Amino acid sequence: MRNGKWIGAAALILCALGLAALILARAGLLGEHDAPEQEAQIQETVHPDLPVTASPSPAQAPAITPAQASSPEPSPDGPPEPSDEPTPEPDPFADKPEIDITDWKYVLANQSHLLGSDFIPEVSPLENGHFFDSRAVDALKAFIQGARDAGLSVYLTSSYRPYSTQEYLFNKKVAEYGGDRETAARIVAIPGSSEHQTGLAADICDQYYQYMNESLANTELSKWMKAHCAEYGFILRFPEDKQEITGIMFEPWHFRYVGEEAAAYIMEKGLCLEEFVELYQN
Ligand SMILES: [Zn+2]
Repeated sequence: MRNGKWIGAAALILCALGLAALILARAGLLGEHDAPEQEAQIQETVHPDLPVTASPSPAQAPAITPAQASSPEPSPDGPPEPSDEPTPEPDPFADKPEIDITDWKYVLANQSHLLGSDFIPEVSPLENGHFFDSRAVDALKAFIQGARDAGLSVYLTSSYRPYSTQEYLFNKKVAEYGGDRETAARIVAIPGSSEHQTGLAADICDQYYQYMNESLANTELSKWMKAHCAEYGFILRFPEDKQEITGIMFEPWHFRYVGEEAAAYIMEKGLCLEEFVELYQN
């Protein structure tokens, strides 16, 4: 009887241990598989409070630069002040010629700078009944001669044009358009706005190609004139890429005297006269 009791008790204990072992093993398996899901669930519920209960997110954390982080002790001068100001670009025109922009050579004539009817330069005769500012006539002669020496056929089509001539041409065009001054102004420069009134502008064409349109730029003469004008103090006054500033269409034939110093700078930098004059307005 005593032995049977012991056996019964031992069997009970074994059963209990086995059950316990089963439960533990199952719990361990479950824990392994469900853990990520549980963790995710926990994070899902916790996350919305994170900004309040947990440490601030990187976006909210005060910015600490690596330099500050590695040297907790502030330097005697303190950390460099952060600046919103961009580093100023170096002035690309700091090397502009030292000239007096009010000098006669730089006079502007355009729709915003009208010359009065009393603007009458002293002019000297050129070939074919043309006239040019007496102070620059030799430069134009040398320019034309330079092209001829290069074997090119130069034909001077226009030079000094007085206010009265421009007024006559303009009024004639207005009459043609039934009094429409606006339309006329798109075809003929309004009196006072023509650079030819300065006596410093010349229209130069090829003797055998007198078409005054953009195609003239493809002639050997125009190419030579553009490449060498600055050597004689002239600039291509109405370049193709400056029409919005000059208000004048591309004119490969129209050259303007500004003196050698300014001409070299203007042609090298690819400016128009309006932009060049602007450099001296500050
Ligand atoms: Zn012209």
